[in-house]
Amino acid sequence: MSGPLIEFQNVSFRYGEDQPWVLKNVNFTIGEGESIAIIGHNGSGKSTIAKLINGLLSPQAGKIFVDGMRVNEKNIWAVRKSVGMVFQNPDNQFVGTTVRDDIAFGLENRGIPREEMIRRIEECLTVVNMSDYVQHEPHRLSGGQKQRVAIAGVLAILPKVIILDEATSMLDPKGRSEIVDTVSALKNNRHMSFITITHDLNEIIHADRVIVMNDGELWLEATPRQLFTKKDELVQIGLNIPFVARLAEELTRVGVELEKHPLN
Ligand code: ADP
Repeated sequence: MSGPLIEFQNVSFRYGEDQPWVLKNVNFTIGEGESIAIIGHNGSGKSTIAKLINGLLSPQAGKIFVDGMRVNEKNIWAVRKSVGMVFQNPDNQFVGTTVRDDIAFGLENRGIPREEMIRRIEECLTVVNMSDYVQHEPHRLSGGQKQRVAIAGVLAILPKVIILDEATSMLDPKGRSEIVDTVSALKNNRHMSFITITHDLNEIIHADRVIVMNDGELWLEATPRQLFTKKDELVQIGLNIPFVARLAEELTRVGVELEKHPLN
């Protein structure tokens, strides 16, 4: 495929004719293998973007393309094969009684032959470091383990892009860092795109590019490093600056030299 993996062209969306516009003329592209973070305050339109990408919603204006296909009713199943989604609440995503059955379910639905299915389950659980849990009940795992199984489940479908929609927001700090580490390892090893939707600026540091949403408009596209030069503006649109960045800034201000700046 030449051209971007995902493209939004002048996309506007509202949840009903009597509702306000929640996305206003949004334009962006995401390349194959690129890792993007979408940030913005609550209600800025981030989850709506995710739902438009996999065709759960359709825009009233503008066009969306995924993997060379226009996202519409005709292409919906092909689009969903290219887009893996990991949501906020891992418990809502499980259908199997064991980790193996859960991942197998998604593959059976797609008619994957048994041998291939077994191979993919093993491989994907190894990648997220969960192969010891293949017989465990998903609901009894820790939050971070649940999300790693959810990631294995979408990886098994061999998508072109994985969207993590606030996938760490219900996790404790240990679970969060498990997911951030898993995703950054995947980024380095697979030619796959990632979209991390978050309101937590701690999670954007590994992204190639950050899209900042504000009240339904694309406010800025920048690298994480460029973004932290705009700290005051970020605070103004309702985002919290990560503790490490504030600490580094404060230490620099008082003249303490840092061996390794957290944003370097
Ligand atoms: P974010 O992910 O940035 O928190 P959302 O995309 O979930 O934002 O929501 C954007 C706006 O759309 C918000 O004002 C929200 O209240 C509204 N919204 C979200 N889902 C619905 C829905 N199902 N019906 C009506 N309004 C909705």
